[in-house]
Formats: sequence, C-alpha cells, structure tokens
Amino acid sequence: MIRVGPAGSCGLGNLKGVSKCAEMDLDCMEVEFTYGVRMDLKTAKEVGILAGEKGILLSVHAPYYINLASEEKEKLAASKKRILDSCQRAHAMGARNVTFHAGFYQTRTAEQTYERIKKAMVGLQKQIARRKWQVKLCPEVTGKPSQFGSLAELLQLKKDTGCGITVDFSHLYARQQGDIDYARILKKLPKKFHAHFSGIEYGPKGERKHIRTTRKHIRTTKEFFEPLARELVKRNPDITIISESPKPYEDAVMMKRLIEEV
Ligand SMILES: [Zn+2]
Repeated sequence: MIRVGPAGSCGLGNLKGVSKCAEMDLDCMEVEFTYGVRMDLKTAKEVGILAGEKGILLSVHAPYYINLASEEKEKLAASKKRILDSCQRAHAMGARNVTFHAGFYQTRTAEQTYERIKKAMVGLQKQIARRKWQVKLCPEVTGKPSQFGSLAELLQLKKDTGCGITVDFSHLYARQQGDIDYARILKKLPKKFHAHFSGIEYGPKGERKHIRTTRKHIRTTKEFFEPLARELVKRNPDITIISESPKPYEDAVMMKRLIEEV
C-alpha cells in the first residue's frame, strides 16, 4: 500500500489539517515539530483521535536542531530530549514513525560520526522501550553530503540498531545531482519504509531548497515524481510518502493521482 499525504497543516493547526487531509482524500499527514515541540499531550491525544476517526495515518517530524554526533554534552542531551519529546507526542497521537535529521560530521570522520550516532540511537531506543512508547525512530536521508545521512549510512544504522528510515527521494536526487535510478534504489530498500518527496533545487553542495515549480528550466514536481511513481507502482511497497513541497496538500493530491494513473 502506498499512502500519500502532506507535511504539516499549512498553518491550519493539526486538527484542521487532519480534516483537510480527509476532505482531499489523502491518506496520511506528518505533524511538524520543526522549530520545537510545543504541542501538549492533551492536544496530541485529540489529534490522534480525530486522525483515527478520519482514517489518516500520522507521523511526526522532530525539530531540526538535532545533532546526535555532538561531542558537547549539553547539545547531545538537548538533541535527545527533542527526539524523546517528539516520541512522547507521537505515542499519544498514535503516530508510529518519528523522523529527524540525525547529525553532522563537523570535524569528525564519517566512521566516528556513525559510531556516535549509533550509540545515541541505542540509548534512545532503550528509553522508548522503557516508557512503552509504540514509536519507531526513522532518521532521514539528508540532502547534503556534508551532513550525516547517506542512504548507505542509514541502511547500516537500520541493520545495526533495528531503527526505521525515512527515505527523502528529493534529498537523494540532490545528493546525486539529479542522476537517479529509482529502480536501483528501491531494490536496496526494505518493503516497508517512510518517505518524503518534493521538487528540489540543488547545487554542487547538494540541497538548496524544496520547491514546487520555479523557473522554466527547473522541472515541476509532477515531472520529478513521475519516474518514481512508475517504479513504486511496479514494486508496490508498504510506504507512507509525505509531500514536503511548499504546497504540500496540492502536491500530495497530484502524487496520489499520478500513482493511480501510471
Ligand atoms: Zn524530508
């Protein structure tokens, strides 16, 4: 099953956002804690109940300011707290997948960074298990080679810790400078995973920004998505795919239609 939905509620608030998903015949929605976890548990439960009634599957995006590779104790502790606060809300909402960008290499080698992040992930998973939260940590494929989170690193992390992954296909596109073979990528992926998609502008250093349609020489999200839609339909994985474009609802609808058409 391929479920499609928007990232966030476009300023409507999560309750109205869930209702809008249902009205637009979408399947899922990602609750965004981009700049901090400010939702109380009561609201989280209300959002979860409404999503259950409307048949909308929820996921959560933890805040951006996370670095699980940090050598500064306070920064590491704050990063872990942001993830755990997100997980607690996710559990209250009945959202399973919790997405985040795991960290940065900074002055460390890729191997050192990997080991630090792995250790932090194992610690987080222990805390999640102790609190009996039904959530899965899903670190995301990031859009810049200077940032931890290549597909290879995340697949290794999944193997070593049993975590989930968020495959942001537009980030992969930017990392590979637009040279992308979706069939080859999907072969490497598990049958079940969480995904992001949007149009993307990139440069030699990777991701610049998520886009819809911009200048004429840049392709539209529809053109970006069609090759992926074809491969997804062929393999029919069990995924949730979240539109992170500047018009997440409209583009999610477009993506869902394209999946039905191809
Ligand atoms: Zn993303």
